[in-house]
Amino acid sequence: MSVRITIVGAGPGGYIGAIRAAQLGAEVTLIEREAVGGTCLNRGCIPTKALKASADAMALAGRLSEFGIRLEGAVRPDIPAIQARKDKVVQTLVTGVRKILESYKVRLIEGAAEVLTPDRVRVQPGEGEAVEVAGDRLILATGSRPANIPGLAVDGTRILNSDQALVLDAVPADMLILGGGVIGVEFAFILSQLGSRVTVVEALDRLVGLPGVDPDSSRVLEREMKKSKIAFHLNKTIVRTLPEGENRVRAILGPSPFLENPTERDRQEVAVSAERLLVSIGRAPVADGLGLERLGLDRDARGWVQVNERLETNVAGVYAIGDLLGPSKIMLAHVATAEALVAVENCLGGRRVMDYDAVPSGIFTSPEMADVGLTEPEARDRGLDVRADVFLFRAMGKPQAMGEIAGQVKIVSEASSGRLLGVHIIGPHATDLIAEATLALRLGATAADVAETIHVHPSLSETVMEAAHAALDAPLHRPAAKS
Ligand code: FAD
Repeated sequence: MSVRITIVGAGPGGYIGAIRAAQLGAEVTLIEREAVGGTCLNRGCIPTKALKASADAMALAGRLSEFGIRLEGAVRPDIPAIQARKDKVVQTLVTGVRKILESYKVRLIEGAAEVLTPDRVRVQPGEGEAVEVAGDRLILATGSRPANIPGLAVDGTRILNSDQALVLDAVPADMLILGGGVIGVEFAFILSQLGSRVTVVEALDRLVGLPGVDPDSSRVLEREMKKSKIAFHLNKTIVRTLPEGENRVRAILGPSPFLENPTERDRQEVAVSAERLLVSIGRAPVADGLGLERLGLDRDARGWVQVNERLETNVAGVYAIGDLLGPSKIMLAHVATAEALVAVENCLGGRRVMDYDAVPSGIFTSPEMADVGLTEPEARDRGLDVRADVFLFRAMGKPQAMGEIAGQVKIVSEASSGRLLGVHIIGPHATDLIAEATLALRLGATAADVAETIHVHPSLSETVMEAAHAALDAPLHRPAAKS
């Protein structure tokens, strides 16, 4: 008899797990209470990238004369049409996923799951009677939701979270964004390109100050934001908000709680008024009504589920994947997917260990950012014998031809062996270019391996190759050092 696997949550963790489990011969039940595709397809990766495509088109339209194209008349965003396009993209993908699940005979139950025991789950559909599902293995993939901040109530009108910012029916004249992390900066560019005056408030001393993002990339991003007239305040937070008239909000910015020795200047309060405030300060686990307490599942102080290296929880036969594992395991769609493949194999008797060493991240700003492996400071902190080499996109043919010259590729490598430790890109199509670097890191490649690999000319990937040549002290498209 085949193994029965129950999966709760049909995001990129859960639905991929269901497909793989079915491919491997399991009898699969997938339970989803909102929308197949989860946050990623419905409220995250895909809708933001569809909106970004419209915002990029708008930005390009503003630069047409640079390409020798004359435009007569004004370029204006049509927000209902932009939203309709975004919805269509989402629908196409969700429908595609549903068809694939159907083709693999995955039993999809639409309703809210409550775990009764490791082998029994009750599902309450929107209408009608609850059903009980019996299984041999359980995978929890219920994801995350926007986190709230005490004293700053999201009201869906003036103060929004990212779910609400995705369905705006007009571009706010001005937008204040609390949180200069990935979601905050992505929205900053989208809204700014669509015509909003955007201000970002970030508590850390740099934008996207995540561990894997190289500080130099943050500096380049900050420079590009200034060029795009997106204002930002670092080391600051919102200390209070006041309504302003019918439709606006006034925020008072004060020193960040992370600031160790605030100066007089840091302590000075600044008032910013905006039509809307987007709160994007992180995510919280989704576990309401799921019955995890009854199961006795180990969770940390913030509620993130704890697993071992094979992604099994402390309860035998119960696995957890995706955002539900929290930031220590990297909250990205492709990580949830990779974890799903590992968890499913282990449900079926495998002993696979989840490897987080070469996880790329992508940030869809303008220009894009992408990182894999150690940053330069991380590598130095580990006491490694490090060198870091940078090559600028502007030196190469394809970026010049495209008119996308901002940014750089930085290679962090071991000085003695040339072994790659990390690659950090900010520039055009960085999120695509990082794939080569990820494979190189995974295979333990050296800078010489990348430099000696023939790359298409002209292509953006040549900049990665040139950074590798630079790491061998022999960049080709750079004048010789003065002797
Ligand atoms: P989710 O996608 O959150 O899916 C969980 C599912 O479980 C949901 O559909 C939920 O309804 C369901 N569920 C919860 N509880 C129950 C229950 N009791 N019963 C039944 N069903 C339940 N990541 C990237 O890699 N690239 C990006 O560009 C990117 N952009 C993003 C942009 C935004 C604005 C946001 C918010 C996130 C973005 N992410 C991005 C992150 C990405 O969306 C998540 O990492 C990913 O969706 C996590 O997948 P998951 O399967 O763990 O959970």
